Amino acid sequence: MIKYFFIIFLITTNTFASDVINFTFLGTGTPRPNIDKLGPSILIKNSNHEILLDVGRGTSIRLNQIGNNFSKVNNVYISHLHYDHIIGLADFWLTSNLWQKKENINIYGPKGIKKLCQNITNSYAEDINYRYEKNNYSKLNCDSYDNLGMTVKHGKINVEFFKNSHGHIEESYGFKVRFKNKSVVYSGDTSYSQNVIDAAKGCDILIHEVIASSKKLYDNNDKLRKVFKTHTDINQLIKILNITNPKLTILNHALLFGISESKVLNKIKKEYNGDIIFAKDLMSVDLGNEISIFNIIK
Ligand SMILES: [Zn+2]
Ligand SMILES: [Zn+2]
Repeated sequence: MIKYFFIIFLITTNTFASDVINFTFLGTGTPRPNIDKLGPSILIKNSNHEILLDVGRGTSIRLNQIGNNFSKVNNVYISHLHYDHIIGLADFWLTSNLWQKKENINIYGPKGIKKLCQNITNSYAEDINYRYEKNNYSKLNCDSYDNLGMTVKHGKINVEFFKNSHGHIEESYGFKVRFKNKSVVYSGDTSYSQNVIDAAKGCDILIHEVIASSKKLYDNNDKLRKVFKTHTDINQLIKILNITNPKLTILNHALLFGISESKVLNKIKKEYNGDIIFAKDLMSVDLGNEISIFNIIK
């Protein structure tokens, strides 16, 4: 049985289900295996439309955990091709077929996404041939962002994509999800990015990555300092939040080394007054005239 645990409630007015877009954090982690923080993936729902942003490790497990049989999840957006954001894709696709998904799955991603899809399809050809009659299975229908317009529409949901700034990765994207007059921005993996700032100014919810460490680890670790260059540190984040001023900020894909979430929040709150929390796996957010956050626990 699914229980809903109410955590916080902001800006209350009357709202109906169809007026709400829902975001569920299936995984909030990084490449490092962690049972409490599976790989990055967010499920977006409104009406009959279900969309995934990234498909990290354990996406299928989490979907099953919340009672989702994948049948409506027909559109997937990939932020970039680092493995932590795509490693769940083959599992999601093959399990969709196991559960007799009828429709093909649209995968939108950076340049290279078609090759990735082709390679996944080739890799599992033996399994597919064994299980299904010729052509009678759901396929990956992949396209890169440079072949698409600036925005893709799914019912009342509009997904816009823009390049962020993820170190040497040229093809890395963030997303702006619009629903009626509401908007949610997902930074993707990025350092300080003007494009993220432009997208996030005045948005309702900003889902942003962060990197932080103890001073000792930072000072003594060359490799860590290099990793910092491709992600957003606390000072950069404070600057971004003070410029964009979202109604709510949710920190996601947090690379924390020798520092706790509460210490990171304390540092940010010294210089930024807005609402800010860390994402947790299975945390769900309804955005309508109000923002409500709850955990889905089976
Ligand atoms: Zn990542
Ligand atoms: Zn990355």
